[in-house]
Amino acid sequence: MFDYHVHSTFSVDCNIPMEASCRAAIAAGITEIAFTDHLDNIPSDPGYGYYRPDDYFRDLDAMRDRFAGELTILRGVEVDYNVGTIEPVSKFMREYGAEYDFVIGSVHYAPDSSMIFPDYFAGKHLDEIFLPYFDQMQEAVETGWFDVIGHLDLPKRYAPKTHRDYDPLRYRERLLPIFDAMIERGVGFEINTSGLRQTPRTSMPGPSVVRWYADRGGKIITTGTDSHAAQTVGAGVGKTLDMLRLCGIDSVASFRGRNATLVPISALQTEER
Ligand SMILES: [Zn+2]
Ligand SMILES: [Zn+2]
Repeated sequence: MFDYHVHSTFSVDCNIPMEASCRAAIAAGITEIAFTDHLDNIPSDPGYGYYRPDDYFRDLDAMRDRFAGELTILRGVEVDYNVGTIEPVSKFMREYGAEYDFVIGSVHYAPDSSMIFPDYFAGKHLDEIFLPYFDQMQEAVETGWFDVIGHLDLPKRYAPKTHRDYDPLRYRERLLPIFDAMIERGVGFEINTSGLRQTPRTSMPGPSVVRWYADRGGKIITTGTDSHAAQTVGAGVGKTLDMLRLCGIDSVASFRGRNATLVPISALQTEER
């Protein structure tokens, strides 16, 4: 199984060394891991300026030597995409894009640069949060910079009690053109299993969204735990593979040097069990 969303000490909000997560991955039956540390671009973000790609590559390559034959370790990054910070991201992708195996594009901030945390919901209808969120996501897809979109319906994770009535069906018509843009450009999305462990109690995105994407002809889906702790590496991936098959997706994407190969889920499940 694959865990394509793991943070390390190169993210400001994580203090787990790569080595600990690699050991945890092997114990959890993970065969491929991608370390996708944050590239934060909003100047007020605590992680702004924290990520050092050259040091990251050096440490990651050392892990590859250490775990050779036991675990496939991929060079990944989770790039924050926001309408206000197009320039630095474009520069980063020009300079470093080809150095990675796998690049996630994630929207974490609203267009006005507010963090989509509980306070942001006060006085707003859910549409005022999700529609601008999806607009930014569509732009992220259309840049062509990213291999997959991270945690596709993230605001549901931070929604306070007053705003827990998110139903993806309400946004189906908004999502379909995004899926069409994804399919046209060869961009996919991840199933971020962190939602299974915390508040929304469902992955990001959940099964209905996967089914709409599959019905539209979408095929590129990765699995990732968004781990900031070693004990969550691999968590929920097995369950997610079952969910994907029920939704009409029979393979998951594996990446090398930014190119996707589709691996049949049946092959992963036989290996695991
Ligand atoms: Zn994220
Ligand atoms: Zn993350």
